[in-house]
Amino acid sequence: MKCTDATQVLAFRPMPLLTLADLDQRLHSLKALPIHRGRVLRAWLNGKALGAGPRHQAQENFLPLSVRNGLPALSEALDAVAQIHSQHPGADDSVRLLVKMADGQMIESVLLPRDALCVSTQVGCAVGCRFCMTGKSGLIRQVSSLEIVAQVVLARRLRPVKKVVFMGMGEPAHNLDNVLEAIDLLGTEGGIGHKNLVFSTVGDRRVFELLPQQRVRPALALSLHTTKSDLREHLLPRAPKISPQELLELGEEYARKTGYPIQYQWTLLKGINDGQDELDEILRLFKGKYALLNVIPFNSLEGTGLEAGNGVSYERPDAERIREIVKYLHSRYVLTKVRNSAGQDVDGGCGQLRARAEGAAQRVDMRRLRDTRTVPATPASSS
Ligand code: SF4
Repeated sequence: MKCTDATQVLAFRPMPLLTLADLDQRLHSLKALPIHRGRVLRAWLNGKALGAGPRHQAQENFLPLSVRNGLPALSEALDAVAQIHSQHPGADDSVRLLVKMADGQMIESVLLPRDALCVSTQVGCAVGCRFCMTGKSGLIRQVSSLEIVAQVVLARRLRPVKKVVFMGMGEPAHNLDNVLEAIDLLGTEGGIGHKNLVFSTVGDRRVFELLPQQRVRPALALSLHTTKSDLREHLLPRAPKISPQELLELGEEYARKTGYPIQYQWTLLKGINDGQDELDEILRLFKGKYALLNVIPFNSLEGTGLEAGNGVSYERPDAERIREIVKYLHSRYVLTKVRNSAGQDVDGGCGQLRARAEGAAQRVDMRRLRDTRTVPATPASSS
């Protein structure tokens, strides 16, 4: 049967690159040996041109002709994995990046002070934490390993990145294979110190089983948020049922295996988890643990629609109460740090920038619908 022009074009269009295996297959087809693969990967992961090599050395001295000839097309394919859609600098030296992937889906990455980067691992999230904008959308799709790594590449084209925290949109434990592949790549060819890769999770037994077996073992951040099991189940409705006590025990085991302390995350919500009863229980649970507590005062923004129930919105405790909490815990030997979500002045916490961009797209579509009255509006997201 004779192909039509259209089917021929489809037949020869290269497959999009999503995983390391796809990239390896492309390099293999260019007859790249492991040494050439390493060079090309390191150049890409450092945000450089794929043919960049040792200083003062011509490309022909370290890459064979077949690889050199294939680099422009490979470079184009890698650039298509993800692109920066917009940049939003904050007052605190952070920059929120809205990143658009090949299928048009958007995720957020945040350049943080001190050469750190926060990356997203899913579009949306299934955990549905009540105080999180990303959780409102539900899970839309997984982010592939190359899409995770591409966020680092894009960021490194803007400024150095020496630390990567997996704390953007999504629950890394729900996309474990892709996240572990990205961590392995960043901790080897990407040149990032293993303890500077921070895997953040609400807690999942598979994580505690698999992380210790990896050749690149990242540091661990666990979302605790409260010492009360029932309140935790309410705040994190679809997180695995692990009690705060068990979470700290599992965390402690990993901390002792790796030699890095566990970072416990505590989104501070006025009148909900900022009481004396919580502080006293923290003292009991943290006693003798290799751990630190990151207190993240909730970022109240108007119009987020994040409600504690009965029409009452979540609120940030006042500055005086935050100071008291830190002082109380510190003086009783719990290492406590206040972390404000970066770039609060540019659309606040994780997922809000994307939500706003999607909202804007939806508004444009709605306007188009009103203007044309014939063309149906395309939903901006599947949420
Ligand atoms: S806080 Fe994290 S785990 Fe919870 S819904 Fe948001 S992205 Fe998901």
